[in-house]
Amino acid sequence: MVSEPELNFVLIPLLAASHIIPMVDMAKLLAQRGVTVTLVMTPLNAIRFTAVIDRAIGSGLLIRVVELQFPAKEAGLPEGCESADVLPCLKSRRQFFAAVSMLQEQAEKLLEEMKPKPSCIISDTHVAWTAETAHKFQIPRIIFDGMSCFNQFCMHNLYIMKDQNQIPESGSFVIPDLPDRIEVTKVQLPGAFNPSTICVQDIRDKIRAAETRAYGIVINTFEELERRYVDKFRKLKDGRVWCIGPLSLCNNDNLDKAQRGNKVSFDKEDSLKKWLDYWQPESVVYACLGSLSHTTVVQFVELALGMEASGYPFILVVKSGEREAPTDNWISENGFEERTKERGLLIRGWAPQVLILSHPAIGGFLTHCGWNSTLEGISAGVPMITWPLFAEQFLNERFLLNVLKMGVSVGSHEVVHLGEEEKYEVQVRKEEITKAIRRTMDKEKEGNERRKRAKEVGEMANKAVEKDGSSHLNLKLLIKEVQEFQLKQSA
Ligand code: UDP
Repeated sequence: MVSEPELNFVLIPLLAASHIIPMVDMAKLLAQRGVTVTLVMTPLNAIRFTAVIDRAIGSGLLIRVVELQFPAKEAGLPEGCESADVLPCLKSRRQFFAAVSMLQEQAEKLLEEMKPKPSCIISDTHVAWTAETAHKFQIPRIIFDGMSCFNQFCMHNLYIMKDQNQIPESGSFVIPDLPDRIEVTKVQLPGAFNPSTICVQDIRDKIRAAETRAYGIVINTFEELERRYVDKFRKLKDGRVWCIGPLSLCNNDNLDKAQRGNKVSFDKEDSLKKWLDYWQPESVVYACLGSLSHTTVVQFVELALGMEASGYPFILVVKSGEREAPTDNWISENGFEERTKERGLLIRGWAPQVLILSHPAIGGFLTHCGWNSTLEGISAGVPMITWPLFAEQFLNERFLLNVLKMGVSVGSHEVVHLGEEEKYEVQVRKEEITKAIRRTMDKEKEGNERRKRAKEVGEMANKAVEKDGSSHLNLKLLIKEVQEFQLKQSA
């Protein structure tokens, strides 16, 4: 009898916290199904995940981390700059992508020697060279771009509009051929349709070309969340779409929830829990604008004062680092922290977001609508206060407001491109922030309906990842697909 060849899924994330985080979750889920998983990283990125991955390995999962040396210097980046969330400025984005493309040779050497032989590559869509690598090794390249099917389908239709020169320069328009009415303006669209001053179109084109050659795509979503969009997108991709999320729900353990993505900036482990335990259920607002964005001091002032004026207890995540020094100065000079200390908690640096969201005291999540955060809020069943900033975040906001009906907008009107924040001054005033928080937290009819809806969606999310739930089954189908491909190859 010929035994089945062992499966080895090689996971190649884009080197940025919010791209690696879901890939690490995916690695755990695949390994829980008996697959060997090889995660390809660089030393400084791997360090951020050591605790979580070591714990997974300790529990018997077959996960390996292989490290490539990141050619920062060769690409003109400062030494140690290995991740998109620590780039010194927007201009370095081009250098960052140059460094990423230099990783191909090292990665292919590793793949050649790998045992068991690689069965497939699950690659972040932004790592375009993996298309060539998968072709060389005659294995499927399955892409992952960290977005929803709703977003994929919007983008598909927007590209058609763009090719036909149909995106109006000003005024709102409806994205065609969608099951829901989704109205946007050009300045709210992702960079492909609304470019920043730094042109990266050539990089984008390469990524898109590689996307069209992909074998299939895994999506961090669940079918019940966006069934009509999943169906449409699946048709577009000849069925090779696997919805296996919410990936964050694979973290059952409090330590895994807390250590997801970076070292948490909280000294005493228990103090956060104690702080949250003190408050009534659904009474606290949690505000965090993701891992990549930068909030100017003038905009931060509006955010902080808007939260204070809402009257609700809050957790506010404040980025740390040199660029944020003016914000830190304002916090101490204004006396904001001291004044709000009875009901406000500032987390400087990295917050244990999934752990916080899972606490019953959280009643609203003020988010920039990055898809990871959006789905984490959905999974926690928490209504959202939406403040989209860049990339596809306005589309995610529309999804929360118009499709799921579980969000209230703070009313931002325009993308703030990464690295160009200083250009924009204040986008959202404190009064608008206070108003959106109050509408969300309100215990009257409108707020209650939104809360009920959020809870229902949260329950669906949790069911999807349970045994025999849709995402649980889709993961099985994905593994089966790769297994059958491998068997055909070796026949
Ligand atoms: N995150 C976190 N703590 C922080 C900031 C971010 O845990 O202080 C995590 C968050 O849970 C999410 C990811 O970082 O998983 C952010 O991804 P998202 O797609 O929401 O936004 P991006 O960072 O790409 O803008």
